[in-house]
Amino acid sequence: MNAGARLCVQKYGGTSVADPDRLRAVGARIVRRLESGTGVVVVVSAMGKTTDDLIKLAHQVTARPGGRELDMLLSTGEMVSSALLAMVLRERGHPAIGLTGAQAGVRTDSTFNRARITEIDTRRIEAELAQDQVVIIAGFQGITSEADVTTLGRGGSDTTAVALAAALGAKTAEIYTDVDGVYTTDPRVDPKARKLHDIAYEEMLEMAAQGARVLHPRAVELGLLYDVPILVASSFRDTVPGTIIRRQVAMEPTNRVRGIALDRDVAAVTVRAVPDRPGIAAQLFGPLADAAISVDTIVQNASVERLTDLTFSVAQDDWRRAQEIVEPVARAIGAAEVIADHHMAKVSIVGTGMQTAPGYAATMFRALAEASINIQLITTSDIRITALVADASGEAAVRVLHAAFQLDEPVEASRD
Ligand code: ASP
Ligand code: MG
Repeated sequence: MNAGARLCVQKYGGTSVADPDRLRAVGARIVRRLESGTGVVVVVSAMGKTTDDLIKLAHQVTARPGGRELDMLLSTGEMVSSALLAMVLRERGHPAIGLTGAQAGVRTDSTFNRARITEIDTRRIEAELAQDQVVIIAGFQGITSEADVTTLGRGGSDTTAVALAAALGAKTAEIYTDVDGVYTTDPRVDPKARKLHDIAYEEMLEMAAQGARVLHPRAVELGLLYDVPILVASSFRDTVPGTIIRRQVAMEPTNRVRGIALDRDVAAVTVRAVPDRPGIAAQLFGPLADAAISVDTIVQNASVERLTDLTFSVAQDDWRRAQEIVEPVARAIGAAEVIADHHMAKVSIVGTGMQTAPGYAATMFRALAEASINIQLITTSDIRITALVADASGEAAVRVLHAAFQLDEPVEASRD
């Protein structure tokens, strides 16, 4: 058995370490795990809203905080939590040591504010574990080859935890947070949402890309890449089982839709009556890319009399700029007009079972039609079908689909 098999990596999010009482509760939870004979490596987020506060602070001295100094500033939030949690454990008589990302050997590239982990040199961590220390690592940060501090992008502590679990050969990465797992849909949108026992990495990535915010998506990507199962569970409610994100889910539930995602940050831009000839799409989308506007869905209709409508979606913050960029191009190529609608939402059904079984699209469209919800645009991937609808009907669409795919009914628990 390798050393990692008796090691667990736990990550505690901002609300879980928000104040001294919460830190003590986390300490108690770690001690219980230690008593079962496992080594524990802990990754912490900054306390409560610390990161937001630090960003606000930076804005008070400059209109454009960013780059290296912002990372210097933000990285302090996680350091505070790691030092305090180590003190809490020592106070309870357990040897513990807090480490910054750099001390823990987390190396990154030098893309400040959204650096990627390039490698983890685990020697220091392993040496501390060999001394029976609980190792408490500041999440969300690393160090470049030039010894500059970096951060991994908002929510990046999840990624630190999964990367560490992979590097240390731990069996799972346990993410403790203020939600108690991954739900079939957002329970605030549909109270009938159910917690999933497990979900496949790919499904989780699709859910996240379509607006479900439970984990940092790169944490899930790393889990997939290194085959590290990720447990998402509540740090507040000890006895409540969480959700495991992993490679395969059991037979039964793979054969159905696993979740419904709602993304309300959507605007659609339609270029009407575009002449249908080669090179037009390149002319339209080149300038958008140059302006760093990320275009999500693109749909071009079949042409009628050599004219075609072209619709694409962007984040709501970008729709005005997108329209401004596209309008002169549209005029130049002889398109009729550009229409933007920024009150849109994307509703998606997600499930690996869709790859092999037909009928999901038909069921989805029928259910929406019966609820008189108009679909403005449809896109699909292997394991997802997305409909663009008016924002005002987004939540209703979620509820209709949740019922249509029987997600409010219990699924047999999977057999590992
Ligand atoms: N503290 C950072 C943030 O708020 C990183 C994290 O919590 O994962 O984004
Ligand atoms: Mg977080």
